[in-house]
Amino acid sequence: MYIGGEWREAISGQRREVRNPATGETVGSVPVCGREDVAAAIDAAHAAFRPWADLTAQERSEPLRRAFEILVERKDEIARIMTLEQGKPLAEAKAEVLFAAEFLRWYSEEAKRVYGETIPASAPHKRILVIRQPVGVVGAITPWNFPVSMLTRKIAPALAAGCTVVLKPADYTPLSAVALFRVLEDAGFPPGVVNLVTGKGSVVGAEFLENPKLGKITFTGSTEVGKQLIEGSAKYVKRISMELGGHAPFIVFEDADLEQTVDACIASKFRNAGQTCICANRIYVQDTIMDRFAAMLAGKVKALKVGNGMEPGVDIGPLIDWEALEKVEQQVQDALSKGAKLEAGGRRYVREGLNGAFYEPTVLSHVDESMDICSVETFGPVAPLIAFRTEEEVIAKANATEYGLASYVFTRDLGRAFRVSERLEYGIVGVNDPLPSVAQAPFGGWKESGLGREGGRHGLEAFLEIKYISLGLNG
Ligand code: NAP
Repeated sequence: MYIGGEWREAISGQRREVRNPATGETVGSVPVCGREDVAAAIDAAHAAFRPWADLTAQERSEPLRRAFEILVERKDEIARIMTLEQGKPLAEAKAEVLFAAEFLRWYSEEAKRVYGETIPASAPHKRILVIRQPVGVVGAITPWNFPVSMLTRKIAPALAAGCTVVLKPADYTPLSAVALFRVLEDAGFPPGVVNLVTGKGSVVGAEFLENPKLGKITFTGSTEVGKQLIEGSAKYVKRISMELGGHAPFIVFEDADLEQTVDACIASKFRNAGQTCICANRIYVQDTIMDRFAAMLAGKVKALKVGNGMEPGVDIGPLIDWEALEKVEQQVQDALSKGAKLEAGGRRYVREGLNGAFYEPTVLSHVDESMDICSVETFGPVAPLIAFRTEEEVIAKANATEYGLASYVFTRDLGRAFRVSERLEYGIVGVNDPLPSVAQAPFGGWKESGLGREGGRHGLEAFLEIKYISLGLNG
């Protein structure tokens, strides 16, 4: 763990092993923190806060920029670590490291644009100023599916705003976080500005909620855990940002470019073996093109290569654990028992030398809303196809969920593209675009998919408090 500028063991001395989900082999170990370690990290961040916040924006931007450069230089090494502990194909891991680096670069620039306002006063001898100030020490909790980019998407804006950070990565993927913190160390942040603790979410979460020196919690993970943190934060009115689960509709109209849309559907659905919060969960296809779309998609999906992410040419790695695989199997069985038709895949993938939880990329047609897969986040490589007839009907179906993170529309009709995107109850709409995440845009969900935004100038707001100064000019 990295606390106050030093690498430390847990006070208890406990460590746990990290496993490769493709092979089951041990790839490393990390300390298991207790609350006392988390409190020590918060103390370090608290001590570092004032001097860091008092630097000029230009001074804060410099180590952020250096971190960007070092992360890019180390992309191959860090991508390897990521694939070993998370399982995604090496090419995807490299792309993620570069994506992660973009947050450091973008916020190194945006650090200089934390502007205030002046407001016309109600009396001639008064002036009204509004300034934005850092919220204080930030506690960040991140998931395993993007082990580096979800970290920089929080750390970079927090540091740019003048906050200091204590971060807890997911239990499955702490080694990528350690590699990232070595980058931050080498970039020259003062001791205590960035701190890393590894250990159980519930232990860290409890300390984050109850420690009065911590001003804000920023969380990315499941809606279930997010709700627990929201509830816990009420007692202390602790500032929170939540990036939670999703159930993305992917809507294909009959006028879409079919070849491109099938490729886009594969990119959205099967990236990271379907384990992303914004991947297509319900694929709505207009009934007039359903048979062609299903056949084209199934044909391409059958050609995807499953295997260890370290092997060249692999498209689909393992699921993170056996529980995740069982959830996928249950959803496929449930759908088949209620009348869905298997177009591709539908089984575990077994090969000598692979001991992980692999599942064949799968396409199901004749799916309807009675099936679990239409309402429960899948987090696996299964593409369910649902037919629709009209624009009105598909908008209503797409919005009939408690989630509201990402959505997708494929059409060549500009009017329809606007009409549908404006009516979708989602924080993100990809129009003919399966990969909408970029550093400069506000990422986040409506409804139970979250609170607040990450990325872009909106992502900086999450780490700033507003202060209004009423200034009397003494006559
Ligand atoms: P998770 O089980 O909620 O875990 C996320 C993080 O929360 C982990 O670091 C976990 O630590 C920690 N945690 C667990 N219980 C906690 C508690 N009681 N208090 C505080 N922290 C706790 O989610 P996941 O399985 O890692 O990630 C998958 C989920 O994340 C999916 O629902 C996905 O949609 C969502 N996600 C959302 C976004 C977004 O931007 N909206 C991005 C990526 C993923 P341990 O590892 O120690 O349990």
